[in-house]
Order: sequence, then structure tokens, then C-alpha cells
Amino acid sequence: MMNGNSSPRIEVVRGDITTQQVDAIVNAANSGLFGGGGVDGAIHRAAGPGLLLECREVRHNTWPEGLPVGHAVATGGHDLPARWVVHTVGPNRHAGQTDPALLESSFRASLETAAGLGARSVAVPAISAGIYGWDADEVARIAISTVRTTTAPGVELVRFVLFSDRLLEAFQRALEASR
Ligand code: ADP
Repeated sequence: MMNGNSSPRIEVVRGDITTQQVDAIVNAANSGLFGGGGVDGAIHRAAGPGLLLECREVRHNTWPEGLPVGHAVATGGHDLPARWVVHTVGPNRHAGQTDPALLESSFRASLETAAGLGARSVAVPAISAGIYGWDADEVARIAISTVRTTTAPGVELVRFVLFSDRLLEAFQRALEASR
């Protein structure tokens, strides 16, 4: 039996985050919360139009100037198997956002937000490793070490869901190195 304060089990798999049977999935969103390309677009397509409507409301009510880099906010999962989506904005290397603390903050805030919802299982993508231009190995290292150092009471499983073999291998190496 795991208690609320033990470190979650970490899994690393290749797959599509939109089909994961977990309590919450994390979205690598943009600060406008209006959907986009990459994993964000895939999540909005799978969740259906209700997700975009809820994101607009969150934007209007809570983050009128956009969700800042390194922060996270939750919505429902709509048509997804997951009950919740935790949206975070990773740093964009092409915009000069090169501080690893920003990426760490995205992973940390996502897990803390998921814990606050009562999620026990969370699927997480390789935030900032796509359009935002971060190196796969650096993202993997930061992702794994941040899970290990974040307090997320009740979260028993963190599953990194990677969309390519290259990313899968980077996360496998980082996980091995952290044991
Ligand atoms: P960012 O703008 O934060 O870089 P992207 O969506 O461009 O976000 O990429 C983040 C990662 O998500 C990339 O490694 C990309 O390959 C991956 N990705 C894209 N679609 C999916 C999906 N359906 N499930 C999991 N990961 C995905």
C-alpha cells in the first residue's frame, strides 16, 4: 500500500497520450489555451469541442493575459478516457526561454495540480520537446528528476507517454540514470 507521501511509480512508454486510461493527462499547451499543433491539437481533437469552450472560460475568468510559462491549470477531460486535463505551458527555446527552471516548473506545477484534483494516475508528455525546441535528453532528465523531487500527495503513478522512439529512449536512459 502506498501512502500519500511516497514517491510515485514512474513508467515510460511509447504511445498516444489521448488514449491513456489514467485519471489525468497533462497537455503541453500554449499560453492562450486555444489549442494548437502537436500534442495540444491531438488532445483537443480527442476531447471534443467542449474542451476548447472550457479553456476559453478558464482563460477569460482566471488567466485573461494567458497562462504563464511554468504554470498549470486544470479542466475536465470531456470525451477523453481521462477525467481531467492539466494544461501547462513549457518554455519555448525559440523565444529565448532556455532556463531549465522553467521546464522544471511546468512538470512540477502539473503534478501538483493533478494531486490537488485527487488524481492517482497521471500521464505526461515530453513538454517542450516538440515545437518549443528543447533537446530530448534534457527534457527527459528534467522530467524524471522533477517527478522524484515533487510532493504530489495521492499520485501513485506517473506515466511518461512518448510519441517517438527517440524520445522513448531518452526517457528510458534518464530513468535508468536516476535509479
Ligand atoms: P511543445 O510546444 O511543448 O514543444 P509539442 O506538442 O510540439 O509541444 O510537443 C511535445 C511532445 O509531444 C513532442 O515530443 C511530440 O512528439 C509529442 N506528441 C505529439 N502528439 C502526441 C500525442 N498524441 N501523445 C503524446 N505525445 C505527443
